[in-house]
Amino acid sequence: MIHDVVVIGAGIGGLTCAAKLAKNGLKVLVLEKNPHTGGTSSIFKRDGYYFPMGPLSFSFPGRVQAFFDELGVPAGIDFKRNHFQLLAPGLDIVYSRPIKTLGEDLKNAFPEESEGIDRVMDELGDIVGLIQDLDRWHPDFLAGSKKKKALDHLGPSDKEKIRAIKKASAQTSREVLDRAIGNVGLKNLLGSQGTSPPEMSMLNLAFMWNAMSEVGIWFPSSGIHGLCRRLQEAVLSRGGEIKIAAPVTEIVIHDRRAVGARTANGDIYQAGWIVSNADYKKTFLELMDPSNVDGAFLDIVRNVPYTGSELCVYLGVHPQKIDFGRMKAAHVFFQKEVRRESDGNPEDFDKREIEICRWSDNALDSAPSGRASLVLRVSFPYDHFSCWRTAEKKRKVGYKEYKTGLAGRLIETVGNILPGLSGSIEVMEIATPLTYRDWGQRFCGSVAGWTWSAEAASVLPGKILIETPIGNLFMAGIYAATELFLGGVPTAIYTAALAADLILETRS
Ligand SMILES: Cc1cc2nc3c(=O)[nH]c(=O)nc-3n(C[C@H](O)[C@H](O)[C@H](O)COP(=O)(O)OP(=O)(O)OC[C@H]3O[C@@H](n4cnc5c(N)ncnc54)[C@H](O)[C@@H]3O)c2cc1C
Repeated sequence: MIHDVVVIGAGIGGLTCAAKLAKNGLKVLVLEKNPHTGGTSSIFKRDGYYFPMGPLSFSFPGRVQAFFDELGVPAGIDFKRNHFQLLAPGLDIVYSRPIKTLGEDLKNAFPEESEGIDRVMDELGDIVGLIQDLDRWHPDFLAGSKKKKALDHLGPSDKEKIRAIKKASAQTSREVLDRAIGNVGLKNLLGSQGTSPPEMSMLNLAFMWNAMSEVGIWFPSSGIHGLCRRLQEAVLSRGGEIKIAAPVTEIVIHDRRAVGARTANGDIYQAGWIVSNADYKKTFLELMDPSNVDGAFLDIVRNVPYTGSELCVYLGVHPQKIDFGRMKAAHVFFQKEVRRESDGNPEDFDKREIEICRWSDNALDSAPSGRASLVLRVSFPYDHFSCWRTAEKKRKVGYKEYKTGLAGRLIETVGNILPGLSGSIEVMEIATPLTYRDWGQRFCGSVAGWTWSAEAASVLPGKILIETPIGNLFMAGIYAATELFLGGVPTAIYTAALAADLILETRS
């Protein structure tokens, strides 16, 4: 056998896992479907601009830096803090501030809700206190010998903390917020950091506020794609191989153990271990013969939903033509009008929450001199677009006109807070859920991991989903955890490093 490990996918998760394995002397082969590495953490170029395929920024920069240091990869990266503003009927607030300070600001804005705000902030603050360094001591967030060691060293106070975390995981934020807060806009801000009704568990909500308010969301000076480039170099410099445009069509399984990967051209690469950086649904529903997998497990993979997809409009603009006066942060979540439950049309942008990011404030070299770039995003169900897809990367006639029309209406709505926007545009590109499926390689274009609904996620078998029912098959990346407890990119890196550790332990 030539390879110790075959990694399916060269996203930041797959590259992280491969780099760690290669550093430890294993022969690693990475097979990537796209003609480039980086997965959704990559960029694309249009007419002098470059834009992000996926992530705009991420949390826990210290952990990411520490991981690069451990790998011995000279990252040489500075991080810039990003701030977030909500601009919706009755609300205009920069909320990326410490929980206590934010609570005080909210009490000034909503004095009649003071008592409830205190209750919610105290409860969130208590959970945030419990979850610091969770991945260093809580057995549910570890695997292999690290998990065993954590279990062996649990003291009474740890057991008390574990009980409290379990309670927070079982409790929905909806019930807590319904009890404490009357104002719907305020409730939604506290429960979703936006305008959506609360649906997460209190634990997941605390992860989100911890990342947003305490640790912060940051952008690396290398760009997120720059992190992938460094990982790729680390793989190659230690004898690893990366094949691009090499889609895996089957994980070869023998006696319920993964023994190799078959690519579209029919080649089979045998290996001692397979690591999949593709998402769970793709891996288990598309890349293997289902008769190899326990039916109950397959049902969970099939039935537990992922987070949805989105419409994204990338703009290269002439900034002097836009009035940015109402934009107080690099990211604004804007909703023009109140949305009621009966307002079901996702194309009614005046009633949708739209993320507006001044991308060139982060990626300084992403726009030509004197120009700026913006990214506008609005969540969209995959099914809304699926009728346009005839095959992979193939669309019915009229798709381009349809999505351009949608983008035009989205821009019109955003023009309410960015006057002059429509007259400032020099370059426009549009991504839809079909793009995130066919170019992002995500099942139904999902954007942010498993569902954030506390109820729906409760049947998943654990917090960390690296180990699978197939022997010698591990998962790495954003879908290998049920909650984004460190946020997207760092969770992908964390699960990937843990998958590498499991292989290194089994081998030694
Ligand atoms: C639109 C969008 C916005 C996002 N915004 C943020 C954000 O702001 N902050 C944040 O932290 N995270 C964000 N994310 C999540 C982000 O994708 C992750 O944090 C990170 O990039 C995940 O990396 P990954 O390696 O787990 O997965 P991916 O980047 O999806 O990598 C998986 C890789 O596997 C490959 N692959 C799949 N199937 C096969 C196959 N059959 N054969 C070979 N290769 C295959 C894919 O081509 C891909 O390269 C966003 C994602 C999207 C799509």
